[in-house]
Amino acid sequence: MPDRPMFDPGLWGLTPREAELAALCRRLGRERFAPRAARYDREARFPTENYRDLRAAGLLAICVPERYGGLGADYRAYMIAAAEIGRYCGATALTFNMHVCSCLWTGDLADDLDMTPEEREGHERRRRIHYRRIVEEGKIYAQPFSEGGPAAAGLRPFETTARRVDGGWILNGRKIFASLAGNADYYGVLCTEVRGDGTPSRRDTLYLAVAADAPGVRVEGEWDPLGMRATVSRDLHFTDVFVPEEEALMPPGVYHRAVLSWPHMFLTLTPTYLGLAQVAYDFTVAYLRGEAEGMPPVRRRMYPTKQLAVAQMHVMLEQAKALWFRAVSEARRDPPKEAVMRAWAAQYTVMETANELARLAIRTCGGQAMLEKFPLARIYRDSRCGSLMLPWTAEICLDRLGRAALYEEGETDD
Ligand SMILES: Cc1cc2nc3c(=O)[nH]c(=O)nc-3n(C[C@H](O)[C@H](O)[C@H](O)COP(=O)(O)OP(=O)(O)OC[C@H]3O[C@@H](n4cnc5c(N)ncnc54)[C@H](O)[C@@H]3O)c2cc1C
Repeated sequence: MPDRPMFDPGLWGLTPREAELAALCRRLGRERFAPRAARYDREARFPTENYRDLRAAGLLAICVPERYGGLGADYRAYMIAAAEIGRYCGATALTFNMHVCSCLWTGDLADDLDMTPEEREGHERRRRIHYRRIVEEGKIYAQPFSEGGPAAAGLRPFETTARRVDGGWILNGRKIFASLAGNADYYGVLCTEVRGDGTPSRRDTLYLAVAADAPGVRVEGEWDPLGMRATVSRDLHFTDVFVPEEEALMPPGVYHRAVLSWPHMFLTLTPTYLGLAQVAYDFTVAYLRGEAEGMPPVRRRMYPTKQLAVAQMHVMLEQAKALWFRAVSEARRDPPKEAVMRAWAAQYTVMETANELARLAIRTCGGQAMLEKFPLARIYRDSRCGSLMLPWTAEICLDRLGRAALYEEGETDD
C-alpha cells in the first residue's frame, strides 16, 4: 500500500504544484531511498545512487526558477516536498537541503530582497552560470558554514576570510561538519571579506561557490558519528584558494541582508526531521498491527499501554506538523516578531519531537524493534542530531524565545 502524504493536499490546502512535488519525492523516497538507507548508514557512505535518482527526476533543480530550466519550487513547496524525503532517508534529505539552499537562497529568497540595479544585474548574470551547472550538468553543491566557534551561531563574523585580488578573492580558513565533503562539486562557503582596516564585520559576509577541485581545497578528518552517517560531514580546509568573481552566489553584503530580513531561511533544516518524526510514528503503527516488513505478523495493538503510547505519539506528531506548517506558511521578508518567534518554536518542536517520537517508538514496539535490521535504530540516531544544527540549535531557540517573550525592542535591565 503506498504511503499516505504527510500533508494531504485537500486537508492542508496545498497548491497542485506543492502536491505534485511532494508526491514525486514520496515515490522516489519509498521506491529508491528507503531500501538503500540502512547500507549507507552502516558504511557511513554518501548516497551517490540517490543523487543520481534526484538528478534524473529533475529534483537537483527543484528550487531553480523555471526560466532557468528548473522546477521552480518556492520556499513552501520545497519544504513540504523535502519532508517526504526525510521519511525514507534522513541523510539524503539533510544533504539535499544543503544543495537546495544554494538555489533557494539565490533564487526565490534573493528575488525578495532589496538590491541596487547593479547588484541585481550582477546577481542575475552569475546565478545563471550556477543554475546551468545544476540543470545541465547535474552539479551538486554543499553548504559549509560551521567553524566550531560562535560564527555559525550568528554571533561573530566567519573566521574563514576572502581577500580581494584581481578577478576574484583568495580564500583561507577551515569549516567543520561540511556535509557532502568529498562528494559535492562545489562548496557554497560563507566567509568574511577582509576590508578597510581589517576589522571583520558580519556585514562583509560573502557567499562563494568554491570548486571542489580548486587548488588549495582539502577534505580532512575522520567521519564516524552517532547519526546522519551518510552525510559524510568531514572538515574542509582552504589554503590560498583563488575564487573567481563570478563565483559569488550573492552580491557582497546581500547574505547579511538575507539573514536580517528573511530569518525563515534557517528553518530549512527542519523538513528532514519532520520526515523522521512521521516515519517513527508510521513504523510504530505498522509494527503494532503486525505489518512491519521483516517481522512475523504478530499483533501487539491490543495492549492498552501501547494504545496509550501511540495516542501520545499521535498528539505530538500532530502538534509538530501543525506548528511547522503554520511557520512555513508565514515565511516572508521582514516577518513580524510573532512569526519569527513561531519559527523558533517550530524549529525547537520539530527537532526535539523527532527524537522523542523515535524514543517512544522503540519503547512501545519492544526489543526486536531496535535491531539494526529495522529503521528505528537509525531514526533514533539520526533524529538526535537535529537539535545540534546551528544557527538555530534547540538551546539557541529557547534562549531567543525567552528573551523575545520578556523584552520588547530596546528594553534592557542594565
Ligand atoms: C550530521 C550533521 C551534519 C551537519 N552538516 C553541516 C553542514 O553541512 N554545514 C554546516 O555548516 N554545518 C553542518 N553541521 C554543523 C551544525 O550546524 C553545527 O554547527 C555543529 O553541530 C556545531 O558543533 P559545535 O560542537 O561547534 O557546537 P556548539 O559548541 O554547541 O556551538 C558552537 C558555538 O555556537 C555558540 N553557541 C552554542 N550554543 C549556544 C548558546 N546556547 N547560546 C549562545 N551561543 C551558543 C558558541 O559560541 C559555541 O562555541 C552538521 C552537524 C551535524 C551533526
